[in-house]
Amino acid sequence: MEIIRVKDAQAGGQKAFELIAAAMDQGAKVLGLATGSTPITLYREMIASDRDFSTMTSVNLDEYVGLDGTNPQSYRYFMNENLFNQKPFKESFVPNGKASDLAAECARYDEVIANHPIDVQILGIGRNGHIGFNEPGTPFASKTHEVQLTASTIEANKRFFDSVEDVPTKAVSMGIASIMSSKNIILMAYGKDKAEAILGTVSGPVTEDVPASVLQNHPHVTIIVDDAAASLLK
Ligand code: PGA
Repeated sequence: MEIIRVKDAQAGGQKAFELIAAAMDQGAKVLGLATGSTPITLYREMIASDRDFSTMTSVNLDEYVGLDGTNPQSYRYFMNENLFNQKPFKESFVPNGKASDLAAECARYDEVIANHPIDVQILGIGRNGHIGFNEPGTPFASKTHEVQLTASTIEANKRFFDSVEDVPTKAVSMGIASIMSSKNIILMAYGKDKAEAILGTVSGPVTEDVPASVLQNHPHVTIIVDDAAASLLK
C-alpha cells in the first residue's frame, strides 16, 4: 500500500489523474469509476486535460435501486454531469438500478466486469470504511449484489436529496471481490470525517467490519489523503 499525502482535494485530484495518465500510457483501457464528492476533483482534472478517453471503457461501482439515469440523484446522471458529457468514453457501464430482476442485473454486471477487467479502480471511502456500497460485514468474497444501505450511509447521503425519506434504501454494488480483481486501485479520502476509516484501512486488522481494510491484501493500492484524513496515522 502506497500512501501519498496531499495538501487538499485539488492536489489529490491532480495526483490521481497523474497516476491514471501514467497507467493509460502503459496501456490501461478500463477505468473503474466512483461517485460521491471525493472523485470530483479528479474528474475536473480529466475534463481539463487534453486526454482523449473515447477509446477507453469505464465501469462504475454502484447505483441506487429504483432510480434511472434521467433521475438527477442517480449515479448514472452524476457520471454524465461530472465526466462523460465532457469526456465521452467508448462504453460506460453503470449498474441498472431500475432492472426488474435485480439478481439477473447483478449477474449481468459480473459478466461486464469479467469481460472488461479493470486496470485502475477509483475509490472513495465511507466514514464507516465502506467501499462502493459494501457496508461493514459484507463478505470479502462478495461479487455484485443488492445492498440494504445502513442508517449512517443514508444519513451521509441525504445532503443530496430534499429529505431523508427520499434517499433510496437499496443499491446495486460491485462486491469486495469484484473490486479486488482490479489490477490497480486508487483510494482517495479528504477531511477529518475520514480519518478513522483511513486508520482502519491502513493499519487496522483486515476485517469485514472495515471493508476497506481488505485493500491491505491487494498488491497495487495507492491511498491519496489530505492531512486531515491522514491525521490519525502514525
Ligand atoms: P464521499 O462518499 O466521496 O461523498 O465522501 C464516499 C463514500 O461514501 O464512498
